[in-house]
Amino acid sequence: MIGYDHSQEPTIREILQTTVSNKNDLKTMAEIITRVEMESATNALDPALKPLPCFNNKSCTFQNRYKYANKIYNISKEFYPKAKTNSKAADKLKEKTRQEELNICKKSGNNAMYIHSVTSLIKKIILNKGYKFQVAKNTTNALRDVDEYYSKLLAHLPSDKSLKNYGFEIVTKVENDKIMQEIDEEGLKDKELDFVCARCDTKYKSDKYSETGDCRYHASRPFYQFGLKKYPCCDKTADGFDNPEFCCQNNFHVYRQQEFKERNLISKYILEEELEDGDKNILALDCEMGYTTKGYEMIRLTIVDFVSERPIFDKIIKPVGEVLDLNTRFSGVSEIPPDSLTFEEARKEYLNAKMINKNTVIVGHGLENDLQVMRITHSKIIDTCFIGYGKLGRRKPLKKMTAFFLNKFIQTGEHDSAEDAICALQIIKREYFNEFNFKINTEQLKWNDL
Ligand SMILES: [Zn+2]
Ligand SMILES: [Zn+2]
Repeated sequence: MIGYDHSQEPTIREILQTTVSNKNDLKTMAEIITRVEMESATNALDPALKPLPCFNNKSCTFQNRYKYANKIYNISKEFYPKAKTNSKAADKLKEKTRQEELNICKKSGNNAMYIHSVTSLIKKIILNKGYKFQVAKNTTNALRDVDEYYSKLLAHLPSDKSLKNYGFEIVTKVENDKIMQEIDEEGLKDKELDFVCARCDTKYKSDKYSETGDCRYHASRPFYQFGLKKYPCCDKTADGFDNPEFCCQNNFHVYRQQEFKERNLISKYILEEELEDGDKNILALDCEMGYTTKGYEMIRLTIVDFVSERPIFDKIIKPVGEVLDLNTRFSGVSEIPPDSLTFEEARKEYLNAKMINKNTVIVGHGLENDLQVMRITHSKIIDTCFIGYGKLGRRKPLKKMTAFFLNKFIQTGEHDSAEDAICALQIIKREYFNEFNFKINTEQLKWNDL
């Protein structure tokens, strides 16, 4: 890398260094980026890559967007050699680049987030050798049927006690009736409640979420490196105790319900014992959530059949409260179309004898959160967190488990609940059925580095 002026692009390099833990990957990326940048340093910006208009653009200048679109294109071209010789292929790739850049611009609340997302995209392009989403190849030849999977998973179900330790809600009808009675007696349904903002800790009354206005926070949690606290959302750093200036600001506060009882105030639970008796099936699921005037609610649900790995339900769901924040940056949901199913309508479609029922084995990653927003209780659960616990009992994120177990890279930008559900079920197939069991190069990918 001699002779290259790092000061030109410090941010991309810094983000790569802090987000790519695998040294070989980092080296590959640095080499490609350096070479491409040196090759294209003298080229003028390509007018065919002029950024598309973005109406909710918050802070990226046109010139910056133009420059980054060129950068993304120049790097992606490495993986589409046709684009170097064939002008049709080049045009196609340029159009793809403009669309990808526009998507990033739409979702970025500030310039730092924009650069972070551009970097993530470049990282994904290099790791995946292009835009395509890598699907891990199943290594098994023997195809199993649902009964074989089902009986084996049934033998691995944790006890109710250990499910509770993992944070799952196990509630009997008697306990539930008692709670519903308390809610009635205390008149909680119509009462103004005391909320504490999940982002800035301000105390407020439930219906006055926008009255005290100013909510300042960081979009991402910090990570610690060399005793410093770093915020990936804005690239700001502080030492242990200080908080750097917040990078996000809204004129409303948000609340996330902490208990079974308060969750019941938004929408009622359907307990496991109240579910229909139905197919002995295995379903992987994943939800996306957002903030509404009522609290924290489900906005998208994906259900994937474990055996075929095909989504059988994947819909945006209209929450009960008015939408305050869809967390688009993470949830990938940018709007709730007016004709979306309501919470109760959606429920009728996925809680029945053919879908989620009393006998269903539910698989997924961090399912206790999903079941909470779906307002169901269930004990036939196989969760990836039973497989991988990290340091200090903290869970491994799905992204890292997928890299480790399946050797594939996901969630470089926003989440996709279908992709997440499929990755979780594949990890479970690997762990319990020895599928996807190609050799993992542990030299390259160390569990503790993840
Ligand atoms: Zn921040
Ligand atoms: Zn707040």
